Amino acid sequence: MTPRYSSHFLIVGAGAAGLMAGRALARAGRQVTILEARERCGGRIYPLRAEEFGYPAEGGAEFVHGAAPVTRALMREAGLSLSARGGTRWSARTGALLPDDTPLVHADRFYRALSEVSADLPIAQFLETHFAGRQYDELRRSVTRMVEGFDAADPRRASTLAIRDEWLARDEGPLGRIAQGHGALVEYLVSECRRHGAAIRLRAAVTAIDESRGRITARIRDGALIEADAAILTVPPPLLREIVLPLAVRERANAAADIGFGNVVKILLRFGTKWWEGHGGRDLADLSFLFSDAMVPTWWTQYPAEYPVLTGWLGGPQADRVSSLTEAELVEMGLASLAGIFDLPLDRLRRDLVASRAINWGNDPFARGAYSYATLQTRQAQSVLSGADGGALFFAGEALYAGPEMGTIEAALASGQERARTILTPEP
Ligand SMILES: Cc1cc2nc3c(=O)[nH]c(=O)nc-3n(C[C@H](O)[C@H](O)[C@H](O)COP(=O)(O)OP(=O)(O)OC[C@H]3O[C@@H](n4cnc5c(N)ncnc54)[C@H](O)[C@@H]3O)c2cc1C
Repeated sequence: MTPRYSSHFLIVGAGAAGLMAGRALARAGRQVTILEARERCGGRIYPLRAEEFGYPAEGGAEFVHGAAPVTRALMREAGLSLSARGGTRWSARTGALLPDDTPLVHADRFYRALSEVSADLPIAQFLETHFAGRQYDELRRSVTRMVEGFDAADPRRASTLAIRDEWLARDEGPLGRIAQGHGALVEYLVSECRRHGAAIRLRAAVTAIDESRGRITARIRDGALIEADAAILTVPPPLLREIVLPLAVRERANAAADIGFGNVVKILLRFGTKWWEGHGGRDLADLSFLFSDAMVPTWWTQYPAEYPVLTGWLGGPQADRVSSLTEAELVEMGLASLAGIFDLPLDRLRRDLVASRAINWGNDPFARGAYSYATLQTRQAQSVLSGADGGALFFAGEALYAGPEMGTIEAALASGQERARTILTPEP
C-alpha cells in the first residue's frame, strides 16, 4: 500500500502535533480519526480553569520561544496575539535579593569555545575539557543550571552542538505569552479539525497497533478496535514503549530511547495580594523572573499582567529528585522556598494563599516527563523514526523535530505539519 493515497488516517494523540497533522490531512480531503487518551485535547498544553487563578493559567507550556514561525503563523490565523514579557529579573543567589543584571562570567571565552566545537560531546564533558579550572567554577555552575533547569536535560547526556544551536536560536524572537493563553491555540486547532470533518475521540488510550495486509488496527484500552489505512503516532517518546507495535515498527520505535526526555515540576501559587511588590523596601513591581538556590529555585510572575500569582519551576534532575512528593508537599516546598528567598514567616505566606497547583509531569501517565532534548544520538534516532519505511505507520511530535527549538510547541506544530506534508506530497 502507498500511504499517501490512503483515505483513512488514525492519529494517536491530540496534542499540538496530532492536531496539526490531523487538520492538514482532513483539509486535504482524507478521513481522519484522532484518538486521545485524556479527557481533553492539548496534551502538554494544559490550561487550568480560569476560576482557579483568575485567568487560564498554564499548567504546561507557557512561553513562545525564539522565531517560532509555525506558531506565530497559526496565531495570526487564529486571531491570537503575543503579549511581550518585559519586566526585571532578580536573583537571590548571592544571599541578597538583587536585580539579576550580571552577565555570564567568562561569556566571551565560553561562546568562543562553543563556536569552535566540531565533534559533538556531552555538555558536561565540554565544560570539564575547556573550563576545568577553579576560576571557572561559577561559569560551570551557571551553564549546568541552564541546561538542567531550562532544557530539563541531564548535562552528562545533552549534546553540546544542539545546546549551541538552541541558545543562539533563542535570541531570534521576543519571548512572550499568547495573550489569550495556549488553550486558545488548541481550541482553534480543534475547531479547524472538526470543520474539516476530522473525528476526535477522547478517553481513547491506544494500547496496541497492528498492521496487516495493508490495514492498520488500533486497540483501545476499553478493548475497542479501530481500523484505518495508516496511522501517525504523536505520543511523547516514553509512551512509545507502552504501545504494542508490529515487530519491524517496534525496532524503529526503540530508537526513541536515544532521545533525551527531561522532567519538570511546575508549582502555581495564587495569593490574595502581590505581597512581593514592595517587599523589604525594594521596588519589585515589575518582577519578571527570580532565580535562587532554594529547593524550588526559579520563579516568575505574570508581569505585565497584574495577577498575584507566582509560578515555581524545577527542571531536569532536580525535578526527578522530588518524584515521590505529593501535590500538597510540593506546594509546601514552594512556599518554604519563597519564605527563605524573601525572609518571610512561612505562616504569613500560607495565610495569603488563595489557590495552588503543583504538577509533576514525570508522574503524568500520558506524558511521563516534560519535553525532549538532544543527546549525541538524537539526530540519528530522529531520522530512523521520521523515515518512511514503506509501511503505514508514522511518527510525529516535538521530539522528532530536527530544528533548534526541540522541546517546544513550535517543534510539535512543525513536526505534525511536516509529517502530513510528506504523506500528502507525491514522490517525484
Ligand atoms: C511544564 C512544561 C512547560 C513547558 N513550557 C513550554 C514553553 O514555555 N514553551 C514551549 O514552546 N513549550 C513548552 N513545553 C513543551 C510543549 O508543551 C511540548 O513540546 C508540546 O506541547 C508537545 O506537543 P506534542 O503534540 O508533541 O505532544 P503532547 O502534547 O504530549 O501530545 C501527545 C498526546 O498523546 C496523548 N497520548 C499519550 N499516550 C497515548 C495513548 N496511548 N493513546 C492515545 N493518546 C495518547 C497525550 O495525552 C497527549 O495529548 C512545556 C512542557 C511542559 C510539560
